[in-house]
Amino acid sequence: MAPRIPSERPRAGLAQALAALRKHFGAPRAPVPTTPLEWVLWENVAYLVNDERRERAFAALGKLTHFEPERILAVAPERLLAVTRLGGMHPQARAERLQAIARLALELGGGSLESLLELPSAKAAKALARFPSIGAPGAQKILMACGQGEELALESNGLRVLVRLGFGEESKTYATTYRSVQTALAREQPRSAKARLAAHQLLRTLGQTLCKRGEPECDDCPLSARCPVGSADRPG
Ligand code: SF4
Repeated sequence: MAPRIPSERPRAGLAQALAALRKHFGAPRAPVPTTPLEWVLWENVAYLVNDERRERAFAALGKLTHFEPERILAVAPERLLAVTRLGGMHPQARAERLQAIARLALELGGGSLESLLELPSAKAAKALARFPSIGAPGAQKILMACGQGEELALESNGLRVLVRLGFGEESKTYATTYRSVQTALAREQPRSAKARLAAHQLLRTLGQTLCKRGEPECDDCPLSARCPVGSADRPG
């Protein structure tokens, strides 16, 4: 069952919360993908698997294609399929998606898609959102990870953590909840893309380990004293 979120709640400051998370989890490690195209491939090479398994599939794709669109289109389909089989369900559909990504990457300029980073953020995000499994938040995440963009992009774990901490309101749709959290964050955004990426990673780690979708493990959470949910049942 999802935890009750009190309506009257003092909100933690984002910077303090992030400092506490960094102390608890340590500095996040650099992500494996480094270019916009690598990020798109990273998101599509695996499905609903942990990071270790995704890394194995991604490394196999790199070994096979060097993450170059021309090579992705040139390799035998069964070799791409062998890669996507490492990454969980629906391997055939994901192998075909890798080919579609390569075709679109060539259409958008080819290479590693780093030319997109020279566009205004809104245009670059629109182009990235054309790739499968990316969407608007995913496009913002890629821009942030590549040192561009203006917002702290979130995935579902980080979004859940911030709602529980009192940033924005949970709504019926993911998109509405996402915008509500972004509005609440407007004055507290970490200033640099590097700091926003670290924030993204720390919030994701908390969401994956303690602030899980069902019952959060607030007793072990470094934010419990400043979290409206975590402190709801505490005296005083
Ligand atoms: S105290 Fe921590 S684990 Fe519990 S709801 Fe708050 S952020 Fe999540």
